[in-house]
Parts: sequence; structure tokens; C-alpha cells
Amino acid sequence: MTRLYNHTKYPDQILKDILNFAARCAGVEGDVPVKITHCTHLRGGGEAHDNKPYLKTLKGRPTTSKDKRTLNCPRGWVGMHLPRTLGVTPQASLVAAEWFVDVAIHEMAHVRQYRTFKFYNPAYYGRVTKGGRRVAHDKRPCEVDANNTVDATRENRARDRRRQELAIELAIILEGTN
Ligand SMILES: [Zn+2]
Repeated sequence: MTRLYNHTKYPDQILKDILNFAARCAGVEGDVPVKITHCTHLRGGGEAHDNKPYLKTLKGRPTTSKDKRTLNCPRGWVGMHLPRTLGVTPQASLVAAEWFVDVAIHEMAHVRQYRTFKFYNPAYYGRVTKGGRRVAHDKRPCEVDANNTVDATRENRARDRRRQELAIELAIILEGTN
């Protein structure tokens, strides 16, 4: 289940519904802390972290503080962002909402990786090839696995329907709030 820290103007319930759905699609076990903030980007986004979050971080306070208390939960948490304002195209809200649902599934897949120790190997990503490059981000096994999790959700009829329902519900809320 999601432990939501919502710093946006949008209501908790739809965000929780999306994040719980995403956790289910990604097969995450245990609670997942999620902090959601506004961003200026028109689609939003997210990132998964391989550790336990500081309480101050979740509550939106400066992390330079000496207070290093962490939330009591398994490792792995997610930061996500929703646009503060919508783009001007007719489908702007739906594009942003659908993207948000897909990113949620993608990031939850990373949390599953952190907790199961599969597909995630930091040593691999630090490795430099002969040409002096690191492994391209999107080709990393953890990214391929996370994207496959999103694809698997789309290929499952019932889940894809739910995925679209949630996106539409969020789009309506984005429209109504902006
Ligand atoms: Zn990723």
C-alpha cells in the first residue's frame, strides 16, 4: 500500500488509487512511501530511490538538517511530480494523466527490484566501457524490466481498462483544478 505525502493541490484519493494500482501491477510487497510535488513540466514524472526516506524529505523540509530519522518501511520509495498547470493542447490533461499512471507503474517496478534484488546492480551501471561510456540509461536491465512492467499492464485487458479509467479520472481532476 502507498503511504502518500501529497504536496500538490490535487486530492489524495485519486493519487492513492493510481499508486496502489501501480504497486499491484508491479507486484510490490509492503508499504511504499510516495511523495508527490508540483513541477513545471507539462507531463510530470518520477524517480525511485533505493533507500528509506528521511521523514523531513517526505514532509518537504530541508534535508540539510541533522535530523536523519527515516520512515519505518522496507527499502525503496518514490518521488513523483504532477504539472501545476496544463498545456494548451486539447488533450493536455489526458496526456499528463496517462503519463502519470505509466510512470507510477514504472517507478513501482524499480521499488520491486530494490526489494527483490533482481535486475538492479549498481556496479553494472558504474562500469565504463572501452569507449569511455557508461551503459545507456534506457538499456540498463532495470529500465528494460520497468518498461516491460508497463507493457505487461497494457497487454492485460482488465488491467489496461483500469489503467485507462484511472487516467481519465485523473484527467478530469486536472481539468477541474486548472
Ligand atoms: Zn526507470
